[in-house]
Amino acid sequence: MLGIVKAKGAVLYDEQGKEYIDGISSWYTCMYGHCNDAIIAKVYAQMQQLDQVVFSGFTHEPAIALSEALISLLPSNQKKLFFSDNGSTSTEIGIKMALQYHHNKGKKRSVLLAFEDGFHGDTFGAMSVSSLSVYNGPFEDYFIDVKRIAVPTDDNIGNLLHELENTIDLDAIAGFIYEPLVQGAAAMKMHKAEHLEKILKVIKSHGVLAIADEVMTGFGKTGRHFASDYMEVKPDIICMSKALTAGMLPMAVTSCTQKVYDAFYSDDIAKGLFHGHTYTANPLACAAAMAGIELLTSDEIHKNIGQIIQWHQEFDAEIKDHPKVASTRQIGIIYALDLNVVMERYGNVRDKLFKHFMDSGIFLRPLGNTIYILAPYITTKEQMQKIYNSIKEVLNSF
Ligand SMILES: *Cc1c(COP(=O)(O)O)cnc(C)c1O
Repeated sequence: MLGIVKAKGAVLYDEQGKEYIDGISSWYTCMYGHCNDAIIAKVYAQMQQLDQVVFSGFTHEPAIALSEALISLLPSNQKKLFFSDNGSTSTEIGIKMALQYHHNKGKKRSVLLAFEDGFHGDTFGAMSVSSLSVYNGPFEDYFIDVKRIAVPTDDNIGNLLHELENTIDLDAIAGFIYEPLVQGAAAMKMHKAEHLEKILKVIKSHGVLAIADEVMTGFGKTGRHFASDYMEVKPDIICMSKALTAGMLPMAVTSCTQKVYDAFYSDDIAKGLFHGHTYTANPLACAAAMAGIELLTSDEIHKNIGQIIQWHQEFDAEIKDHPKVASTRQIGIIYALDLNVVMERYGNVRDKLFKHFMDSGIFLRPLGNTIYILAPYITTKEQMQKIYNSIKEVLNSF
């Protein structure tokens, strides 16, 4: 366990004063840099005005301003927002929305559809739709019914569409939850927008709600504001957290279409979505999110993102044919490479890699034998070069 005492920009500082470049933006949150002055100023100003108030029967300006900004940033079919406070609850709410949507319409659809290798969080609904893992073992008896499908590839997409049309009872399925284009916890596994779009067309034509889990992919990382922006077919529900508040405070939002909202809007109180957390739409978190969106849509961050995309492409050209590189992939500022090393022979590759990076002053978290970079947008060329050099050292060390 390492004590971290300070963070600024793309750098973390430990108790001994040693610096580490935060190559994964502290789990994809602080994309505009740690302790960003513009965000601090907005949150500080908010602290002096309104810190916290019950978001039931009350509303406040930071939530209204953020809602308007988010609605204009999101795919145009997203019209309503539901606030909560972490990524798991954002997907849990998306799942509850999908189940109750059909229930309110008098239909019983109790199964959810999900990708193999997905990760959607640690609450019960979220665990149910995440891929099976040893961590979830003690709870599996209590899970929601889930039908899993393979992640699409050029090779399996034909079979996958056939399976959806012919062997899966889509009329029993309430919603399809997916991490669009990049599966983060599965080691930045990527799939093509054209394939996902075909899947979405099929499920939506059977009344299955599409729930995009953009907790990791949201807010510019794929090169667009949301990964869903790469497709014509839009989700019914979108889950957001992580970079939403720029790494400053915990918050989450689940957005939905007017059609989904209308299924809950009724004089019959039992049709409402009864889910509320104490810190729902906390004003300070709203202010941080608002500051984050202002940065995301600024010319400067737009330019930074473009530069990182180009640096990654140049780095990729340099290393992709290295004998120790099995494959590489990139979308936006997310870059991943799989090492071509025999795991048994080299023992615990992952731990060895982690130690190498930390010793070099770089915080990366390899997953298995995948190394990935998801550094803040404000990472300088020099800092990124340090990350690249450290990866090159690894490649030449095997
Ligand atoms: C991190 C993550 C979650 C869970 O978010 P928490 O805030 O850690 O609960 C859900 N879905 C995806 C895709 C994530 O990356």
